[in-house]
Amino acid sequence: MTTPHPPKSGEGDLTQVSLSSLEHYAYCPRQAGLILLEQTWTDDAATIRGTLLHQRVDTPGNQARGTIRTLHALPVWNDQHGLTGVCDTVELHADSRVLPIEHKSGRYVPGGPGDLQAAAQAMCLEEMFSRPVPQAVVYSGTDRRRHTIPIDETLRSRVLQTAQQVRNLLDRGELPRPPADRRCKRCSLATDCMPKLLTGTGRYQDALTRLYCADDQDNA
Ligand code: SF4
Repeated sequence: MTTPHPPKSGEGDLTQVSLSSLEHYAYCPRQAGLILLEQTWTDDAATIRGTLLHQRVDTPGNQARGTIRTLHALPVWNDQHGLTGVCDTVELHADSRVLPIEHKSGRYVPGGPGDLQAAAQAMCLEEMFSRPVPQAVVYSGTDRRRHTIPIDETLRSRVLQTAQQVRNLLDRGELPRPPADRRCKRCSLATDCMPKLLTGTGRYQDALTRLYCADDQDNA
């Protein structure tokens, strides 16, 4: 999913973190901050392509074909780890396998933010269906193929660590500094973010940085 989901309070003290915010934070902590703290969202060609790709899978429903039942736009959660969101597609196989499929319009990046989001979906489905979900899939619209991801311990740890970093961001309420690197070229929020202006050397930079950036990025 590419549409931002505002966080909401969960039961107990653990703030629920949306699956989409994990992806945003993994891509760029400042991007997550702009969306979660300032409700900033701007579409560009890539995000509109993503929206169009999601139109079919964002319509709730289910269909059966052969030994597979396919669910679309399934709300998911993991209360133990404070995660919540929506799965684009979930396949329920006759042999009891549950397989989440995250749809991306762009090319697949191995180990990238899409893997993190798909792993978090798998962790939600494990709690909901009370069974292991050892794999997830990222479908790339550019590649036109599925990329299967093993949900190993390293990926699970990254999900939990990133979720905590998002909570820290929400608690602190300050925008992280912009990394101002190659990621910005593919970021639809570049105009709102002003990465070059805030990291440049002009006469107003210090004042702007003090105004718009946290003292340190949160890497806890
Ligand atoms: S423009 Fe760059 S620094 Fe700003 S949110 Fe996007 S990726 Fe992050």
